[in-house]
Amino acid sequence: MPRLTMAKPRVAVVDLRTAKPEPKRVDPFYQSREWLKVRALVLKRDNYTCQTCGIAVRRHPEETDKPRALVDHIVERRDGGADLDPANLATICDPCHTRKTNQKRAERQDRHPS
Ligand SMILES: [Zn+2]
Repeated sequence: MPRLTMAKPRVAVVDLRTAKPEPKRVDPFYQSREWLKVRALVLKRDNYTCQTCGIAVRRHPEETDKPRALVDHIVERRDGGADLDPANLATICDPCHTRKTNQKRAERQDRHPS
């Protein structure tokens, strides 16, 4: 039986002109069993509704007509918010989350001008 030859791993080419300024760093926290569990719980609790704008978010990947759902830390972890406390977590849609993130970033830059 011929041995399977492994395909060479393809190196992703990043186009710096189109790459987003802040690539998402993969935080192992967001892959932890505890997080995934509490995340599912919060989505269910919030009935898959964005707690910021009230829009129905995506329950299944095929519901592409709805925005992606995120579970957001109300008080960010870097600001000392509880990691896994549902009271500090809320369902948020992708557009609201982006808006919040950008706003937060602007606030930080105001406070700590570099
Ligand atoms: Zn929203």
